[in-house]
Amino acid sequence: MEKYDIVVIGGGPAGLAAAISAKRSGIDSVLILERDRELGGILNQCIHNGFGLHTFQEELTGPEYAHRFIRQVMELGIEYRLDTMVMDISREKLVMAMNRKDGLFDIQAKAVILAMGCRERARGALNIPGFRPAGIYSAGTAQKLVNVEGCMPGREVVILGSGDIGLIMARRMTLEGARVQAVAELMPYSGGLKRNIVQCLEDYGIPLKLSHTVIDIRGRERLEGVTLAEVDGRGRPVPGTEEFYSCDTLLLSVGLIPENELSGKMGVEMNPVTSGPRVNESLETNIGGVFACGNVLHVHDLVDFVSEEAGAAGRNAAAYVKEYAENSVTGSAKDSVKDGTKASTRDNWKDGTKAGTRDNWKDSVAGSAEDSVTGSVEDSVGDSTKDNRRDGTKAGTSENATGRADHQRGREIRLQPAEGVRYTVPERINVSRMDEKLSVRFRVGNVYKNCYVSTYFDRERVSRRKRQVVAPGEMEEVILTREQLLQYPDLETISIKVEA
Ligand SMILES: Cc1cc2nc3c(=O)[nH]c(=O)nc-3n(C[C@H](O)[C@H](O)[C@H](O)COP(=O)(O)OP(=O)(O)OC[C@H]3O[C@@H](n4cnc5c(N)ncnc54)[C@H](O)[C@@H]3O)c2cc1C
Repeated sequence: MEKYDIVVIGGGPAGLAAAISAKRSGIDSVLILERDRELGGILNQCIHNGFGLHTFQEELTGPEYAHRFIRQVMELGIEYRLDTMVMDISREKLVMAMNRKDGLFDIQAKAVILAMGCRERARGALNIPGFRPAGIYSAGTAQKLVNVEGCMPGREVVILGSGDIGLIMARRMTLEGARVQAVAELMPYSGGLKRNIVQCLEDYGIPLKLSHTVIDIRGRERLEGVTLAEVDGRGRPVPGTEEFYSCDTLLLSVGLIPENELSGKMGVEMNPVTSGPRVNESLETNIGGVFACGNVLHVHDLVDFVSEEAGAAGRNAAAYVKEYAENSVTGSAKDSVKDGTKASTRDNWKDGTKAGTRDNWKDSVAGSAEDSVTGSVEDSVGDSTKDNRRDGTKAGTSENATGRADHQRGREIRLQPAEGVRYTVPERINVSRMDEKLSVRFRVGNVYKNCYVSTYFDRERVSRRKRQVVAPGEMEEVILTREQLLQYPDLETISIKVEA
């Protein structure tokens, strides 16, 4: 059976950046598996500009941005396989994949990076009444038809949903000669970036109808028109507000769903808000040595942040392979509890000594992946019950038997989304393993104007940033530093809130 140190699932911007950073961190044996016929992921169909402003201080198109990373993959000699679909990943990181040339095959990895991106929500998930005529597409499918295949899906267009893909397609279809009559959005605010509302709708005079939805579809063979209606605060159509639009095309831009079937099947714990894996400061899931980044982790609006996050996942996966799976071949999980390694991590951290070093991490994860996998659940429970309960994991669950055991993780601080904040990534921080700086990314659940984004360490407010507006369509960020966290040795919870 083939063996690689790190297998990256998905060759989009997240997978590319993760593989590059793992390789640059000293791991030679890295393999990218991509089901499509080329690397680059969704960027290959995004021929508009607006990519790379943060990373390259340039406005690039999607393919140009992807190409910069693909070139580095080539220059670094990173292996990749195209037209290769990953079918299954076991908790022991046995990756089962399939392609035409090799058929079904297995690869044993020491670490796995999940970078499968996301897919669009389809009409089936929306319960729009009416027949199923031709002419209804997801916005991303229409984008691929127009930009990659060179086909126009229609001429008279209504778009449901104001996510970024819908906004960008409103402009694209207009530029290709179609008439986009309206973009209807169920919510009282747009799900897309402000810049896209201005550049893709306002600049072309396309109306954005907030608090509106499609309540009827006309046409049996081909779409003939749709009826839009206003909705009340509970999403119910308001009688008397119906408007019929004659059109041959309805594009749906009603949300993205992270592609986590593989992750769920292998036992990765999911956050129901993001539909992505729950991760710690290292972007590592509950399964030791399994990392996640990009849209599979949480839906991003800017690819620059995907690349940055994926770079961290690659570095952390490399550190895992070097310091845990290869070097730490002494003793099992059980041994490391017995010899007091767990205590040392926490003590050092409390002392404020340089507990944040990878060395302590290394100490605290003595025991190879193999040892931990084969060690019994009972062995790995040890005296960690209390710690495990604090971070919400169940002591003695099988995850303890896979990769790094929970009690070996050291003390973890919980990140808690509060008032107005829907989720945070990551959800747990072990100060002894974090980098000097950590980006905590989150989204708010509503539009808030003239507000503050505040960070609390337990009950103490430690930062407050004035914001003119925060909206669900724009990802937000709070930066935490290790130096700052070391000053709070007993800290249990960090909360991020939107305050008036
Ligand atoms: C229409 C649109 C417009 C956008 N516009 C902008 C913009 O203007 N500026 C900007 O910064 N960002 C933009 N973005 C966002 C940006 O493109 C995404 O954030 C980024 O592509 C996410 O990268 P990813 O690698 O996580 O996912 P993807 O790009 O989706 O890549 C995931 C890859 O994983 C592969 N994969 C999935 N499952 C498997 C499997 N089982 N086996 C093997 N391979 C698998 C897929 O084939 C795919 O290639 C836009 C996105 C879209 C969709």
